[in-house]
Amino acid sequence: MRIGVFPGSFDPITIGHEDLVRRALPLFDKLVVAIGVNSGKKYLFELEQRLAWLRAVFADEPGVEVTFYEGLTANFCHSIGARFILRGLRSSSDFEYEKTISQLNTSLAAEVDTIFLISRPAYSHISSSIVRELIRVGALDEVRAFIPKAVQL
Ligand code: ADP
Repeated sequence: MRIGVFPGSFDPITIGHEDLVRRALPLFDKLVVAIGVNSGKKYLFELEQRLAWLRAVFADEPGVEVTFYEGLTANFCHSIGARFILRGLRSSSDFEYEKTISQLNTSLAAEVDTIFLISRPAYSHISSSIVRELIRVGALDEVRAFIPKAVQL
C-alpha cells in the first residue's frame, strides 16, 4: 500500500492545504494528514479544533485519514509504514527550507522520500500565518476567502 503523510500545523487549515491534498490524492492509496504536535510551540487553535476542521474538510475523501503525532515526522512515517511525505512549495524560500527538512528526514529514515507539489498561482500567497494575522485584527470577512467552507470561525 502506498501511504503518504502530509504533516503540518494546520493552524488553521487553508484552501491552499486543501488544494494540495486533493491534487496529491491520486499519487497514494492512503494520504494521512497529520498534525505534528510540538509542545514548545504556541498555536492559535487547540489540537482538537484543528483535527475537527481537517476531518470536516476531508469527510468526502475516503483516501484521507486525519491524525496527529508527537516527535519526529520521520519516526511517525516509519511507525505507520509511510514511504512518502507530501509538502507544498509556494516560493523559493519554501524551497530552501523544505530542502533541508527533506534531506534531514531521509537521513533519519532512509526509506522516506518527500514529494513536492508547487502551489497553484492563485494560492501561493495563502498561509496559515496570514490567516492568523487577519483573525488577530478582526478581518473575519477577508479570512473566509482563505479557508475551506467547513471551517467555521
Ligand atoms: P508547518 O507548520 O509545518 O509549516 P503548515 O501547516 O504551515 O505547516 O504547512 C504545511 C504544508 O502545507 C507545507 O508544506 C506548506 O508548504 C504547505 N502549504 C501551506 N500553504 C500552502 C499553499 N497556499 N499552497 C500550497 N502549499 C501550501
